[in-house]
Amino acid sequence: MNKIKDRIWKKIFILSKEEKQEFINYFPNKVYLTERNISVVVALTQVAMIILFLSNKHLDLSNFRTIAYLSLYIYLLIVTIVAVFLYSYAYRTKQYKLLNWLRRVCCFLICIWLMGITFLGQMKGNDLSVFSYLLPTMAAVLLLSPLESLIIFSSTWVMLVTMILVFGSHEGLFGVVINSIFVTVLSIYISFRYYRSIAIEFLDRKIIENQYEEIKQTNQKLEEMAHVDQLTGLYNRHYLHQKVYPMFNEYICEENYSMCLLLDIDFFKQYNDTYGHLQGDECIKSITRVIKDFCDKYDANAVRYGGEEFLIVKVGKEKFDANQIANELLQSIRDLQIPRNDSDLGYVTVSIGLWHNGLFCVSSLENAILYADNAVYYAKDNGKNCIYEAKQK
Ligand code: GH3
Ligand code: MG
Ligand code: MG
Repeated sequence: MNKIKDRIWKKIFILSKEEKQEFINYFPNKVYLTERNISVVVALTQVAMIILFLSNKHLDLSNFRTIAYLSLYIYLLIVTIVAVFLYSYAYRTKQYKLLNWLRRVCCFLICIWLMGITFLGQMKGNDLSVFSYLLPTMAAVLLLSPLESLIIFSSTWVMLVTMILVFGSHEGLFGVVINSIFVTVLSIYISFRYYRSIAIEFLDRKIIENQYEEIKQTNQKLEEMAHVDQLTGLYNRHYLHQKVYPMFNEYICEENYSMCLLLDIDFFKQYNDTYGHLQGDECIKSITRVIKDFCDKYDANAVRYGGEEFLIVKVGKEKFDANQIANELLQSIRDLQIPRNDSDLGYVTVSIGLWHNGLFCVSSLENAILYADNAVYYAKDNGKNCIYEAKQK
């Protein structure tokens, strides 16, 4: 039932209640300049009319119609001047609700002026010209919701016809009523079309914004996926080049503390041959968990550098003992006690090559990795399951 109600509401008013709230903050930017400029033009026109009126040599200020016309010009001048100031104030201070109310009030006050002018025209003949061109023009340039335009324009018509019935000449009344009905209906229709075009533009924009947001999120996800290794969830080499290299290069070797550690699982080919590739994957994942904990603890970056090789990089301003924390990592992996009966120890071990700035300086992370890689070879040559520090060539 509520859904049907919402659909009917949307059919008539184009925007749902929630969308209307957003729309109030959207449309002032679209219509502000046009509405303000038109108000300025109307105010200038009234000034010109007043000057023309007062410069007329045959001006008779004792005549009711003359006084009434002059008063109406002054009235419209005041309304438009006040409207321009209040309108730009509300716009500049982003008080869009106030701006909306100003538009409604302003529109209503112009309608009263229009009634007055039309009534004066009716006192001499059946002139409806100002009403006929101004009401549709207002509908075309002042943004009103369907309900607002229905209320404002039809009440203007009711007041106008009532005034003519009570005070005006009844001659040609039928024609006036029919013509004014036509103009009023036409104005409501124009207003509705105008509102609809701006509202649809708003909805289209919202769709585009939502799609843009979705694309942005998808791209973010894709970028994350491009940076992350599927098996371990660690960063990959792509990430290493994009993020870790530049980060490392930001730190000047002599002034900061840095470490580059390369870790390689011992006899892993043999492990795969004995336990199968799937079990090998599980072994890699278990070691990865230890590496991740280590990186969380010491604020380091880990990358899956090769199949069973992992790179850990740590840089910072705080001093740390690279040897000690590398030993802690080696021991944590030993403590995992991943069983293997194809080796003397009976569990999986790793070898680590370590470079840190306490040893000697390097010009780039690339160099640090080369040194750490060489150190891994030494570790492997010296019985594995150990740490070797890099040696300067
Ligand atoms: P060393 O002790 O000298 O490091 O010997 P190793 O056998 O560990 O080194 P080698 O480079 O000969 O073999 C590495 C093996 O790691 C070969 C490859 O099948 C295995 N490997 C690489 N990536 C993966 C992976 O994602 N999953 C599994 N299960 N095995 C992998
Ligand atoms: Mg290897
Ligand atoms: Mg290996």
